[in-house]
Amino acid sequence: MKIKRVVFKVGTATLYEDGKLSKRVDEIVKLLSELNKEYEIILVSSGAVGAGYTKCPLDKTKLPNKQALAAIGQPLLMREYKDRFNKYGVTVAQVLLTAADLDSRKRTEYAKKMIDILLENRVIPIVNENDSVSVEEILFGDNDQLSAYVTYYFGGNLLIMLSDIDAFYTDNPKTNKNAKPIKIVNEIKDEWLEQKCDPNDKFATGGIVTKLKAAKFLLDKNLKMFLTNGNNLKTVREILKGNQTSGTLFSKEQK
Ligand code: ADP
Repeated sequence: MKIKRVVFKVGTATLYEDGKLSKRVDEIVKLLSELNKEYEIILVSSGAVGAGYTKCPLDKTKLPNKQALAAIGQPLLMREYKDRFNKYGVTVAQVLLTAADLDSRKRTEYAKKMIDILLENRVIPIVNENDSVSVEEILFGDNDQLSAYVTYYFGGNLLIMLSDIDAFYTDNPKTNKNAKPIKIVNEIKDEWLEQKCDPNDKFATGGIVTKLKAAKFLLDKNLKMFLTNGNNLKTVREILKGNQTSGTLFSKEQK
């Protein structure tokens, strides 16, 4: 199937370096602006809580504090994106979702129509969970899963996850030197989902398990996900041309 609509997910580990927004963000914005000429691009971005923390260091283990940090940080994060995309003449839109927005066909259709209009006008929607009002029962949980839902419900053909790791490995490569990258994954094994979650960054909520859950959701819908390193954007250009130089492609197609 020809790839038309691509969803990107950028994790906290990719966005921040030593508590500050990383130079990588410039590169990612440049890439997305280029791709925006050829594809319809949706960006799911983490980082609001981290951005809020730079202004107001509240204890983020308490939920109301975390929600307040998200409320402080979301406009800061959006401004960072807006200014960068502006350089390339690309307009961005802020889309904040709670799980309740996608819990019925009717509500999903409304949300999708709005996204379609943005994309028809070459505006890049920057999606995040509406953390400041999300309570447990309306949480997507993390942006890994949110990005998978966005891909499926908003008609994406491929989800590209930019992380601090260059692939899915046989074991955590940060703790096991013998871990090997897996190039193609056709199905998600249950035992992989039973590992404990271990996001690297203190602001991250994901870890590899939530990425695998996202991949499982997409594989079940016959969609694809590509996991690669936010430092190596060449792999993104290549995968869109059908060449896999590194990273992990989650796809039902056997190669
Ligand atoms: P992000 O902020 O991009 O969502 P996370 O820190 O949540 O990133 O998740 C990526 C991390 O998951 C990697 O840096 C790695 O330390 C860890 N990890 C654990 N097990 C694995 C594995 N089998 N393959 C790859 N990464 C793994």
